[in-house]
Amino acid sequence: MTDKSTQTVKDEWDKLIGRLDRAGIPSDPNWRTLVLYMRSMRGYSYLSERQKEQMQKLIVDTLRAKEYTDERYQELVLEQEEILLAPHKEKIQLALDETQALMSDVQRLLLRKKGDVQSLETTAVDLVESGGNPKNLISSMRKAFQEVVNSMEQDMKDLTELSMTDQLTKLRNRRAFDQCLEQAVSSAMSDGTPLSLVMIDIDHFKLFNDTYGHRVGDQALQVVSRALLKLGEEINAGGEIAYQACRYGGEEFTVILPGANGPSGAQVAEEIRKRIERCALNIEDKFGKLLHERLSITVSLGVQELDPNWNGAYVSNLVEQADKKLYFAKETGRNRVCHQLDS
Ligand code: GH3
Ligand code: MG
Ligand code: MG
Repeated sequence: MTDKSTQTVKDEWDKLIGRLDRAGIPSDPNWRTLVLYMRSMRGYSYLSERQKEQMQKLIVDTLRAKEYTDERYQELVLEQEEILLAPHKEKIQLALDETQALMSDVQRLLLRKKGDVQSLETTAVDLVESGGNPKNLISSMRKAFQEVVNSMEQDMKDLTELSMTDQLTKLRNRRAFDQCLEQAVSSAMSDGTPLSLVMIDIDHFKLFNDTYGHRVGDQALQVVSRALLKLGEEINAGGEIAYQACRYGGEEFTVILPGANGPSGAQVAEEIRKRIERCALNIEDKFGKLLHERLSITVSLGVQELDPNWNGAYVSNLVEQADKKLYFAKETGRNRVCHQLDS
């Protein structure tokens, strides 16, 4: 470091100390470092606008109150931690809620099973006690056992369905997507039929959440998902190409299109783009009062057709290439479809 830059740093440091003095912050290094640290958070890109605002408000309130005690210092450390951790806590809470919902479903099924087995026992005892023809007895017992087996099979189906469904959007989840794409690729390769994949990402969704809150963000995800499902019903009814929409994660979705080549995949993607652009979200509170009217949301989309000339790794190539195109759509303005990297 040169003498000049050492001098500049010293001047800046003195200025900073002067400002802290004028703001009345005690010379205790703990207080000074905490205030400077909280102040520097304005520049942290991983914090949302709401977190930055909350942090600034905390500093302003602290400076106004001028209560520089050890107790207040400890409280302030906890309050700023709370602001930093809030989004993570929310995500953990969501995961816990989802697990709890799954557990309640499993418990409900087990209870039903317990009831089935108890009534099977009663039926068996009644049948044996009533005596009668052994042939009829066996046939009635078989029927009663078969009913329990059928109901167990149905429970297994229900549980599998539940583990493949995203609870917020009711779309197929990431696990289902991985399986479905694997199957679609292997059928397309063995039948020599085309297959396209559309990757979809909501534009500026972090800003949307920061502006309207996470709950409204969740409702936006549901609106997008309903639009995806509705188009799927129409396309699947047509019969020419198949359509499977999934939630890939966060604010990202995918549509698997067996039977669609690149251009028809791009047509479907463009239809998705238009429909979502046209969705107007009216957000109401729990009493039905309109909070936000006609909010709009847009998505960017990347489309990739399966290329049989790829050197293996078809599934990961398909996803990577569609993702690359999605990011090209983002870079070139958002709210658009990219199906070729130069388009
Ligand atoms: P871009 O246009 O570049 O995609 O910008 P973006 O803001 O959409 O992208 P970024 O990856 O920065 O932010 C994604 C946001 O999606 C951040 C996260 O809070 C939000 N998000 C992810 N999952 C959920 C969810 O389940 N509910 C809500 N409300 N928000 C979610
Ligand atoms: Mg994203
Ligand atoms: Mg996004």
